[in-house]
Amino acid sequence: MLSCRGSDNDPRSCGEMINNDRLWNNLMTLGEIGKHPDGGITRLAFTKEDRYAISVVGALMKEAGLAVREDEVGNLIGRREGENPNAPAVLIGSHLDSVFNGGIFDGSLGVLAGIEVLQSMKEHGISTKHPIEVCVFRDEEGCRFNFSLLGSRGMAGTLQSENLGYKDNDGISLAEAMSGCGMNPEGFSRAARRSDDVLAYLELHVEQGKVLECANLPIGIVTGIASSLRLMVTVIGKADHAGATPMNLRFDALTAAALIIGVVEKEARATQSAVGTVGQIHAYPGGINIIPEKVEFTVDLRDVSAEVGQQLEIKILSQAKDICDQRGLTLQVDILQRVPPAPCSPEIINILADSCRELGITELQMPSGAGHDAMQMVNLCPIGMIFIRSQNGISHHPAEWSTPEDCAMGAQVLYQAVLKLAK
Ligand SMILES: [Zn+2]
Repeated sequence: MLSCRGSDNDPRSCGEMINNDRLWNNLMTLGEIGKHPDGGITRLAFTKEDRYAISVVGALMKEAGLAVREDEVGNLIGRREGENPNAPAVLIGSHLDSVFNGGIFDGSLGVLAGIEVLQSMKEHGISTKHPIEVCVFRDEEGCRFNFSLLGSRGMAGTLQSENLGYKDNDGISLAEAMSGCGMNPEGFSRAARRSDDVLAYLELHVEQGKVLECANLPIGIVTGIASSLRLMVTVIGKADHAGATPMNLRFDALTAAALIIGVVEKEARATQSAVGTVGQIHAYPGGINIIPEKVEFTVDLRDVSAEVGQQLEIKILSQAKDICDQRGLTLQVDILQRVPPAPCSPEIINILADSCRELGITELQMPSGAGHDAMQMVNLCPIGMIFIRSQNGISHHPAEWSTPEDCAMGAQVLYQAVLKLAK
């Protein structure tokens, strides 16, 4: 199914192929760890399922000839030396932890594809100038401690000591969970890498959306990971009797909120790139016969361009203020979270596009609305991401699925790109 376009005379001019069956079998084997009867998996960070998955992957790394170590925040790292051991390393990474009852591809595909790339290079007798490492980042999903990207923060040097005090539902702190796994959390800062030690970071991941499927294309090249702005908007008016108060004498907080929500949709659509969502809304006092006095709702805005995101925020908030002023209402906006976008490196995007071309694959360049470890790694080095098509766009669910062909294609693009970077 996957062919090399290369030159007509030399079908191998785009390089050797990975072992598709081995990759798929490893994915299915790993998908048994933490599995529920409905096919979903739960592998929360620092649980026995998580530790077992890490040990299985560690064994695969050793088979691929990698030197394996665990760093101070629990990242598993398999390294293959380069011809120049002092050259900065090319990093390939993803995660093995899951959400509650999640799918078997999210994270695992990227880790196993990374190992497959190095196993194949070993079998094809290929050496590179730069060292190459596969990184399994610990606790990407952040389900247990409500704190995501632990491992990649540790490696990128953005982890703070107070983060380790966060507790799970049983009152166990992140530091305690780490100690329980035989780690020394006080030494977390030693997990941070020096930027002159790392050449680039690459990650293969399932898209987790429907964009590729709708475009009928298997491979996406990520242009950047979207910024995330989360707001709590409060509109304050006046409660009154729904029957006794004429329409022209009302200070209805909910009708204003409805207009503002319409503005969120209209302005996000107008950018043609950003997404805007109102996912929670509460009206007070909440009686069928009472005009709402106060409404609180969340706004989630994302875009890969910091400038587009900023303009969108300004437009929405200025119109929200006008709506409230015209109606004699009070507007209050609280910022819950503001994470800047993580742009992918234009050079790596080009390398990935060249790799697709060599393989005869038509790719789609697209932003990532979901967060990934690359979001933290961008603080350390240039990043690049490959997406593969998700069936029905489903993810974080037992029905998460990608075909063996698409998984193999993504891993092959990763192989070509790693080779170009590390050579
Ligand atoms: Zn993931």
